[in-house]
Amino acid sequence: MNDLRDLYQEVILDHNKRPRNFRILPQPTHQANGLNPLCGDRISVYLDIEDDVIRDISFQGAGCAISSASASLMTEALKGKPVAEIEHLFDAFHDVVTTECECPKGLGKLSVLAGVRDYPSRVKCATLAWHAVRAALEERKEAVATE
Ligand code: ZN
Repeated sequence: MNDLRDLYQEVILDHNKRPRNFRILPQPTHQANGLNPLCGDRISVYLDIEDDVIRDISFQGAGCAISSASASLMTEALKGKPVAEIEHLFDAFHDVVTTECECPKGLGKLSVLAGVRDYPSRVKCATLAWHAVRAALEERKEAVATE
């Protein structure tokens, strides 16, 4: 379990224990569900988009510490951002959790999840909420799965 210590950094633990934006939006403009069958993580995301800007974003669900913390960090990162920036941020985040790249600037706290790159099965936990947001924007009705 010692190897996991680096993975579960303080920020991740904090966001798992006290997830930010953990609620259901009353009238979301976009919504989608994500499922990671490998780990059993389930996350629903809710977005309120107006004039191509994410006015509000929230999530609900149950999963491992990595999936919950990543969803929480993601909502903080995306709130107030133009929709056009989501794909760019997701790409940058995906690089951070899968490759030994230098962390791109502008990712802020999202880069605390860089530790998952040493645990390939955990990458799906870390990116689940992002896949759900992408599905919500594409208005896919069925749950998006990481498999
Ligand atoms: Zn997980």
